[in-house]
Amino acid sequence: MAGPVDPRTGLSAARFGVYVHFPFCLSKCPYCDFASIAAKTVPEVRYTDAVLRELELRLAVWPSVPPPVDSIFIGGGTPSLWSPPLVARLLERLASRLSLAQGVEVTLEANPGAADLERFAAYRAAGVTRLSMGVQSFTPSTLAALGRAHDGPTALRAFAAARAAGFDNVSMDFIYGVHGQTVAQVEADATQAAALGAEHLSAYALTLDRESLAEEVPLARQLRRGEVSLPVDDEVVRMQRVVREVYAASGLERYEVSNYARPGRHSRHNSLYWTGGDYLALGVGATGTLPLAEGRVRWSNHRSAEQYLAQVEAGALPQATHEVLTPLEQFEERVAMGLRLVSGVDLWALCRDFAQPTAEREKTVAMLVEHGLARELDGRLALTEAGFDVHSAVSARLM
Ligand code: SF4
Repeated sequence: MAGPVDPRTGLSAARFGVYVHFPFCLSKCPYCDFASIAAKTVPEVRYTDAVLRELELRLAVWPSVPPPVDSIFIGGGTPSLWSPPLVARLLERLASRLSLAQGVEVTLEANPGAADLERFAAYRAAGVTRLSMGVQSFTPSTLAALGRAHDGPTALRAFAAARAAGFDNVSMDFIYGVHGQTVAQVEADATQAAALGAEHLSAYALTLDRESLAEEVPLARQLRRGEVSLPVDDEVVRMQRVVREVYAASGLERYEVSNYARPGRHSRHNSLYWTGGDYLALGVGATGTLPLAEGRVRWSNHRSAEQYLAQVEAGALPQATHEVLTPLEQFEERVAMGLRLVSGVDLWALCRDFAQPTAEREKTVAMLVEHGLARELDGRLALTEAGFDVHSAVSARLM
């Protein structure tokens, strides 16, 4: 693992990262709310040119010299559809226009259905150091319920290809709480994932009832019409617990609400989001946060590829939103994100930094501790396992 470990969090979180979004996929999964586009032919050269042009546009409004880049994350979409020579071109340009810290973590998300040894070896040669695979499940009925195009054996072959290509840092994503899924199936998926020896595993509950979820997500529509029903909350909590137990027994420590890693193998890039780091974002639908001349700015790019391409090609920043974050917004985000970490958050330091009152929060903290939902450790507030089960509600109480 590169970078110094923060003794308070146990993480070597990146302080400045670059996120590059590749929005194209072979097909659209029915639960997907990401900025992703099913495309038979991917306009990848035009898209690469646009991302590199956006980099120049962003650098032109940067008020100072950008700090060294600790992590680069190429997410999607399905970035493993991006031809390796174009990924190499992207990484070379980032290295020449920004300064990369020694041991920079470079992650690329891979879909098992768009993965093979030759492709992975070429990504490795281009400078990718870590693969993150969207496996979701090995179980045929769960994969079918999620509308995934790959099957379990394909995922196993993709993992073997990653190893054969020289990747010693591989993450896999799984989903639980899927309609029709049982606790035993979740346990079987977790057992198989842990046995593979991946350095990092993520396990997310399927959520189709979030207010922020787009109207048109097909599974969310089916849920609203009563055509599918998700496992009840207690069952989902049991699934999450079984995942944690299986992973812990295999040496994969939970360090964040949904993320588990072998020692020193947590995601440096995602840790940046949980600890308030800065990130430059490039590509369709990408969201970035940087200290700019007018303050700490959060922007989101257009989610439509055509709109994004047209704007960039006309020499304009391709953003749909742009806001200067208030101290209160920054405080709330830092609390919600920090409480996702097992090591918790220094609530009182954040109150100080963002000029937020403490009196009511002291009472809330005492109540959370009394109810076994949180604990205070070396001045940090951290959720217990029971607290993690109600993370959103606890964060809301502290705001
Ligand atoms: S592969 Fe990922 S990004 Fe693409 S449609 Fe499926 S869930 Fe969405």
